[in-house]
Amino acid sequence: MNKILNFLFGFAAFLTAFVVDSKTTYTGDIISGHKVITILDIDDIPDNSFTKLWLRTTQSSIGQYFHVPILVAKGSEQGNRLLLNSGIHGDESNGIRTVQRVLKDIDLSILKGVVVGIPGSNVNGMYNNRREFVNNFETDILTDLNRQFPGNMNNRLAAQKYVRMLWDGVFANNSFTAGVDMHTDTTDNELPNFVYADFTIPYVFRMTELTGADIVKIDLGAGTLGAIENILDYAGIPAITLELGKSKVWQKDQIQRGYDYVFRQMADLGMYPPTEDQANIKAYEEYKSKTFYGNEYSSSGSTNGGYVELHVKNLDVVTNTTKAATVYNVFGDVIEEIYPSFDGIITSVNHYPLNEPGVDIILTIHNSTNPECINGC
Ligand SMILES: [Zn+2]
Repeated sequence: MNKILNFLFGFAAFLTAFVVDSKTTYTGDIISGHKVITILDIDDIPDNSFTKLWLRTTQSSIGQYFHVPILVAKGSEQGNRLLLNSGIHGDESNGIRTVQRVLKDIDLSILKGVVVGIPGSNVNGMYNNRREFVNNFETDILTDLNRQFPGNMNNRLAAQKYVRMLWDGVFANNSFTAGVDMHTDTTDNELPNFVYADFTIPYVFRMTELTGADIVKIDLGAGTLGAIENILDYAGIPAITLELGKSKVWQKDQIQRGYDYVFRQMADLGMYPPTEDQANIKAYEEYKSKTFYGNEYSSSGSTNGGYVELHVKNLDVVTNTTKAATVYNVFGDVIEEIYPSFDGIITSVNHYPLNEPGVDIILTIHNSTNPECINGC
């Protein structure tokens, strides 16, 4: 743990040294009617405006740039600044629709401050229909961008440069008050409405309350160094990772929960009036009363390759003797049964039957009584 803390404290100093303060930089190009930038400074964006921009990042191997769509809603009065990212994993779509809907529906006349939305930040992953960024280097190297922040312009991989241009161009340059990075579970897997949050960061616990999520994983981010949430936290911008269900589908219920959360978040930051819709308030109070906060989770997988039949679903309350899944060989013979690691709640399931040995089939969350787990382990 000390090694991780040393890394992060060193890293925080690094970030402070490299947080830039540049003006919005336009390349002069227009794509599909919208201006292309390399740096966004929301101070330069006109008050009372809704702006669509393209952030120019790295070039592909044929010299064409990857352009990231950026939405900026700026109110007529000064106020806080909220960053909404989505799609840093290219197969995770619910957050993209959430950002699109929120930015479209903001009434600028009552907005105080600025909301910046990125509806799909890994455009390379989306081109390639996959989670990662595909570097056309050697025989294609796949990079999980949400482990690389703040990136490095001197690294040989395009993914590292891409991340650095996002970080410098938008994330680090705008003195955001808070950040929300929207995800889903990865392809073939499904999370409930779920949050990763580091409670050692001021305001983060309040953000989790506002989500009304099914599950909150208390988490220092030690296992996900370079994730947007953690790097924003260490740069002084309280952030959460909001997981909205499953990949490669637009789940209207998850998108609605993400949408309602963002408007509550804006209200809590004094950026927007709170909703007066009684049905909306009641639904939130019900969700919030059921939110489970857990500090430890553990996956269970098969020791054999084979077909997996699930017997549990997300949010089932289980014990370590609950039969969670059965593994069959190709002939249909039972070869293994899978049990939760401990008594707790099922918080992710793998829907794809065919699995290699060791692949996560279920994830179970609980509260460890180990004092070292108080902030997550
Ligand atoms: Zn993700």
